[in-house]
Amino acid sequence: AKDSGGNRYEIADPVSDARAIDRHSLTNHLPGALERGEFFLEYQPLIRMSDSRLTGAEALVRWRHPVHGLLGPDRFIPLAEHTGLIVPLGRWVLEQAVRQACDWCAHPLLGGRAADSEPIRVNVNLSPRQLHHPDLVQDTVAVLEWAGLTPASLCLEVTESALIGADEDELKPLRQLAEMGVDIALDDFGTGYSNLANLRRLPATTLKLDRSFTQGLQQHPADPVDVTFVGGIVSLAHALGLRVTVEGVETEAQAAQLRELGCDTAQGWYYARPAPAEEIVAHWATA
Ligand code: C2E
Ligand code: CA
Ligand code: CA
Ligand code: CA
Repeated sequence: AKDSGGNRYEIADPVSDARAIDRHSLTNHLPGALERGEFFLEYQPLIRMSDSRLTGAEALVRWRHPVHGLLGPDRFIPLAEHTGLIVPLGRWVLEQAVRQACDWCAHPLLGGRAADSEPIRVNVNLSPRQLHHPDLVQDTVAVLEWAGLTPASLCLEVTESALIGADEDELKPLRQLAEMGVDIALDDFGTGYSNLANLRRLPATTLKLDRSFTQGLQQHPADPVDVTFVGGIVSLAHALGLRVTVEGVETEAQAAQLRELGCDTAQGWYYARPAPAEEIVAHWATA
C-alpha cells in the first residue's frame, strides 16, 4: 500500500501500518544512533579461488536498535541515504574498517602473507550520496593516513547503478582514488541496467558479480545458459584487466563451477557468513 502522508493510519492493512510506524520510528532514532554507539560492523571473508586463502573481508554495517533489535543494512541504509546521515555513518564505517585492516595487516599470520602475495584488504561499501560528496577523496586519504594503511589495502565498493550516467567530472574522485592505489569494485554487477560498454570508462579494478548469477549455478548440472553467461562476463572482465569476485557462493558445486569459469575471488556462506572481526582472525589465521 502507498504511504500517502496524512491518511496513513486509515488504511486497514496491518502490514503496511506496521511498516509505516516502523519507518517512522527508525527515522526518529537514526540521527542519534551513531553518537549512541548503536552501529557495529561485521566482516565477511573474501577467498582467493586458486588456493582458497583469505584475501580480505567486506565490512557490513548492522544497527543494534534499542526497540527493534538487530537490524540489517537493507532496513536503514536507504533511510540514511535519504536523510543524509549516510555521510557521517559512512565515514564512521570507513574509519572502523580501515583501523581493522591495520590490525589484520599487523597480525603475524594474516599480515605475514603479504610477503607472498598482496596485503589483506578490507572492502567498504559506498552509497551514491557518499560517492558524490565533495570531500570523498580528501576524507578517504585522511582516514588512510590517520590509520597508516596503504591504499592498496582498501577496496571501495560502488554499485554500477550509482555510476550510470556519471560524466567524466563525476567519475574524477573515484579515478583519483584508483590512481592512488585504492581498489575500486563494481558491486552487484549484472543487476539493474548493466552496460558492458560502460565498463571501459569506469575506474574500476574489480567486478563483483551479483548473487543472482551464482544462483543459476546451484543446480546439478548447472544451467548451461548461466554457465555461458558467467564465463563470458569473466572473459570480458579479464580482457579489460578487471579482477572478478563472485558473491553469494553457497555450495561446493557453485564454488567448483565458478573456479573453473575463472573467477578470481569468492564470497558467500559456503566459505563464511559475516561475523565479528575477531572471528575472522580465529578462523583464517592458520599457518
Ligand atoms: P552487498 O554489498 O551486496 O553485500 C552482500 C550481502 O549479501 C550482505 O547482506 C551479505 O550478508 C549477503 N550474503 C553474503 N553471502 C551470502 C550468501 O552466500 N547467500 C546469501 N543469500 N546472502 C549472502 P547484508 O549484510 O544484509 O547487506 C546488504 C546490503 O547493505 C549490502 O549488499 C550493501 O549494499 C549494503 N551495506 C552494508 N553495509 C553497508 C555500509 O557500510 N555502507 C553502505 N553504503 N551500504 C552498506
Ligand atoms: Ca558490497
Ligand atoms: Ca554486492
Ligand atoms: Ca548483491
